[in-house]
Order: sequence, then structure tokens, then C-alpha cells
Amino acid sequence: MNNQQQLNVDLSQADDIVCENCGNYTFNEVALMKRLSPLVSPTGKEAIVPIPTFACNACGFINQRFLPVAMRSTDSDKSNEATESTEPTRPRLVTES
Ligand SMILES: [Zn+2]
Repeated sequence: MNNQQQLNVDLSQADDIVCENCGNYTFNEVALMKRLSPLVSPTGKEAIVPIPTFACNACGFINQRFLPVAMRSTDSDKSNEATESTEPTRPRLVTES
């Protein structure tokens, strides 16, 4: 009996994830460090919680998709669009008069 799930993934069909800041495609495993205040810590004491994620090997940027959902900019979708500053905004075409 072979209970192991076989994942037959054709990586040629997989998209490369690149740094959204510089376009580099290699990443280092890094850790975000969260400080848990004594008020909310289950132990009643301050706790440091490491959260593993990945940072661009070239520039250190961490793509939004690598962040835990709770750490993404969560205010609202509308403010997300307004505050997106990681990519240079292309000026809109203005018809010259
Ligand atoms: Zn980068």
C-alpha cells in the first residue's frame, strides 16, 4: 500500500516568484520577530515569536505574499491601492491639448 500522496508537479508549468522590488528570483529564509505583550501572551509574560518567511536574496525585500495574512496591510482594500508604493506608478497617458 502506498499511502504517500504523489505530487506530480511539472515545475515547467509553475510560475517563478520574483522579488517585487528588484526582480531577483532567489530568496533567503528569514524570520519576522513578533513581540507578544504580557497582556495577550498565554504565559502572562512577554514573548518573542519568530515567524519564518522569505526575503529577497539581493535587496532584502519581502513580498507581500510571503507575509502572514495578519501582517499584510489590512486596513481595507481601498487603502491598499492608495498606499501601494513598492512599484513605480506609471504616469497615466494624458492627451495633450
Ligand atoms: Zn529584491
